[in-house]
Amino acid sequence: MDDSSSPDCLFCKIAAGLIPTRFVYEDDTVVAFPDISPVSPLHYLVIPKQHFTSIIEVPVEVMGRVHQAILQIVAKEGLSTKGFRLVNNSGSDGGQVVAHVHWHLLAGRKHTWPPG
Ligand code: 5GP
Ligand code: ZN
Repeated sequence: MDDSSSPDCLFCKIAAGLIPTRFVYEDDTVVAFPDISPVSPLHYLVIPKQHFTSIIEVPVEVMGRVHQAILQIVAKEGLSTKGFRLVNNSGSDGGQVVAHVHWHLLAGRKHTWPPG
């Protein structure tokens, strides 16, 4: 892990390869991997490798790189026609459990609204 990592952070450890995880996408800034408890047939977590607790802390340049990564995953998985859901939970009211910013990419079924 580099200096920007948070030593007790689960997703920092995953990004650093310290916890064996299948990456479905990786570049120098972003990594994506399947959620351990999927709620949809496709459920990936997309994260910046650098530790940010929530979206409030993420610089716009990194947001752009996350967006770019999501577009590549959407293309690779063929999701653009049927669609998908992209979710970011922030803080306790947002339902965030893991304190390393992440986006849930959900696909492969119809998703309803509103969420719980
Ligand atoms: P949050 O509620 O913070 O938005 O979502 C955290 C997500 O991380 C949950 O969907 C949960 O299943 C997932 N998760 C928790 N621990 C692990 C883990 O060790 N590996 C993976 N791949 N996902 C995890
Ligand atoms: Zn982290």
